[in-house]
Amino acid sequence: MELDGKIAVVTGGSRGIGRAISLELGRAGAYVLVNYLKNADAAQQVVAELGGRGLAVQADVSTQAGVDALIAAGEAAGGIELLVNNAGITRDGLLLRMTDEDWTSVIDTNLGSVFRCCRGAAQHMLSRRRGAIVNITSISGIQGNPGQSNYSAAKAGIIAFSRSMAKELGRRNIRVNCVAPGFIDTDMTHALPSELVDGVKQMIPLRRLGKPEEIAPIVRFLLGPGASYVTGQTFVVDGGIS
Ligand code: NAD
Repeated sequence: MELDGKIAVVTGGSRGIGRAISLELGRAGAYVLVNYLKNADAAQQVVAELGGRGLAVQADVSTQAGVDALIAAGEAAGGIELLVNNAGITRDGLLLRMTDEDWTSVIDTNLGSVFRCCRGAAQHMLSRRRGAIVNITSISGIQGNPGQSNYSAAKAGIIAFSRSMAKELGRRNIRVNCVAPGFIDTDMTHALPSELVDGVKQMIPLRRLGKPEEIAPIVRFLLGPGASYVTGQTFVVDGGIS
């Protein structure tokens, strides 16, 4: 299989899009470290679905200590070759009502974690001269979205950060790409008012939200041999809304 023998780390891998990515990478042959923040049972369930070919690792990736623990677990498992930065949160609000905490928590979790996890993993990937990274951004980071200035700024930052990483790390055979989902049916979108979701569906050419299982295959492709000459790119998976 295309990812046989490779060690993968998926941040926020216990539910939603991260869960689907963890399972997809496992089906492609990878050994998956399923990072989670709080829900140990959900993460263990994913590892069980991986047939035990994985490990649940608790770590808060918005902190350096959490990232250090996650990277150490990946190296102890055999060395991280594939990294998916998927963990993310929303703290939506219009600009004048947005608190400093809304701003810093979203920037630290969504963008800071990508920086710290890439820095931690790249240190080892550079010495092995191989690796592939996929960062999960959003169409909000390309188009902007009212009520999501913090989230959009973080997601736009991920795209620019990834392009810089692609240029910096390419000569050592490390590829860095982004996937930008549109509206996907997960806990994150369940938090939105149903009238808003109904309105959004009318603007999506495919007339429905996406499923996490429709994001995971493109992540697997970007990490695998079929994408060996692809780096610095952002792939939009949004049912056509953008
Ligand atoms: P979700 O809320 O179900 O999953 C987010 C995951 O990130 C959870 O498992 C959560 O525990 C984890 N997480 C949050 N903070 C963390 C931290 N500090 N440390 C470790 N883990 C942490 O939502 P989802 O829709 O599956 O989101 C996954 C990714 O996809 C996010 O980056 C999100 O921004 C992005 N995204 C989602 C959509 C969508 O419509 N659902 C659209 C575009 C992008």
